[in-house]
Amino acid sequence: MTATADLVATLRHVLEDASSVVDDPDVTEGYRRDRARDPEAGRPLAVVRARSTADVQAVMRWASQHGVPVVPRGAGSGLSGGATAVDGGIVLSTEAMRSIDVDPVTRTAVVQPGLLNAEVKKAVAEHGLWYPPDPSSFEICSIGGNAATNAGGLCCVKYGVTTDYILGLEVVLADGTALRLGGPRLKDSAGLSLTKMFVGSEGVLGVITEIIVRLVPAQPQASTVVASFATVRDATEAILAVTRVMRPAMLEFMDAAAIGAVEDAMKMGLDRSARAMLIAQSDAGGAERTREIETIARAFTDCRASEVFATDDPDEGEAFAAARRFAIPAVERIGPLLLEDVGVPLPALPALIEGIEAIAAQRDVLIAVIAHAGDGNTHPLIVHDPTDEDQTARANVAFGEIMDLAISLGGTITGEHGVGRLKKAWLPDQVGPDVMELTRRIKHALDPAGILNPGAVL
Ligand SMILES: Cc1cc2nc3c(=O)[nH]c(=O)nc-3n(C[C@H](O)[C@H](O)[C@H](O)COP(=O)(O)OP(=O)(O)OC[C@H]3O[C@@H](n4cnc5c(N)ncnc54)[C@H](O)[C@@H]3O)c2cc1C
Repeated sequence: MTATADLVATLRHVLEDASSVVDDPDVTEGYRRDRARDPEAGRPLAVVRARSTADVQAVMRWASQHGVPVVPRGAGSGLSGGATAVDGGIVLSTEAMRSIDVDPVTRTAVVQPGLLNAEVKKAVAEHGLWYPPDPSSFEICSIGGNAATNAGGLCCVKYGVTTDYILGLEVVLADGTALRLGGPRLKDSAGLSLTKMFVGSEGVLGVITEIIVRLVPAQPQASTVVASFATVRDATEAILAVTRVMRPAMLEFMDAAAIGAVEDAMKMGLDRSARAMLIAQSDAGGAERTREIETIARAFTDCRASEVFATDDPDEGEAFAAARRFAIPAVERIGPLLLEDVGVPLPALPALIEGIEAIAAQRDVLIAVIAHAGDGNTHPLIVHDPTDEDQTARANVAFGEIMDLAISLGGTITGEHGVGRLKKAWLPDQVGPDVMELTRRIKHALDPAGILNPGAVL
């Protein structure tokens, strides 16, 4: 047996079921990358499909003992290279940890990390409840990955992001200790807010093995307004005109390139001549919904929308939301993407989107822009052909320039996808040396040997 096979054999030995460890290269290949498709991804020693907290503890104790890096992985839908495998490490997948226990009285659910976001929504809906955070990837991303990235989504403009719905966590540290933080309590001020420290920690501080989520009553039906604009400036002014006076349940943006790509894929009659499109929703109750929809439609019209369409039909509204959710895969059909997630304070949104257009023109690359516009969170999608070295170099320059632009506007390099490996070079520019030093001290206190997700975030 080789030294590697020996090492994997010792790992099999510490797990309850040896078949949880997979080292067949045909299988491990599928666990090397997330959706950022990092070409630098390493080759893992093995993949462990943990079935319990005890499995995760056993893996972490074993990894500490042998100094083996561990990359936690949910469903691998991440867009920042956070779950990219490292050479000689373990990919620790939580996909097989899938239980959920809903308590309608406290309006909470105890969820294992491997359940998909859509499955959580479905399970709680059976109790007349709703788990709001709704990444566009909700059918393919895990709740553990959502907690680890503090995922956002379309309804977050009104309902908040993942951290706003996390009351407690079970987390396994690098040395195998399992911590229980928070609990099914709507109020809890005991001690430091350690639960929140692990939300969005991208697998560098611990492995999330259980999540206690807060639920709310089922979402009321939504009405939808869709508008086309002849200029991006008009559309961004319309966004600010809406958020100045109300809080919509959704306010999404697509530019001309995104509209064209979605229309090519879905053929649903979107206005290809528009330079920008906005999709807004109100889910207010009764007459208030009508008033909100009128307010949105008026704001769009006042900002020179070329076409404004409103509907109370939930299926029709969902078709537009689905079109927006499909924008990333649709643009990906044109070519591989460098995918950004920059956000700014709302008043700076017009400057950000116009600045991105200027970078695309200067670097001569196609950049389609979609945005959770009501949050000021944009996704510039930089299309490039990896076989074209010159174009890829220009795309990479644009990738950095867009983050520089967001930082210069008082914004962030990532609103919801996380830093991962692809954006970490820009993190110090955003947060500064003192915050980076504190981050390193926290990391060192929890994971002194640096075995948890090395290379991600810091
Ligand atoms: C088409 C498309 C649309 C998307 N739209 C959105 C959107 O609207 N909003 C949004 O926020 N994101 C979006 N995403 C990105 C992605 O789906 C989210 O980041 C999601 O939260 C990742 O979940 P995952 O289970 O796939 O995690 P993975 O990709 O497997 O991992 C993500 C990160 O979390 C860590 N991690 C995963 N599980 C654990 C765990 N149990 N414990 C500790 N660390 C862990 C990993 O190490 C990695 O750093 C989109 C992705 C795609 C492909």
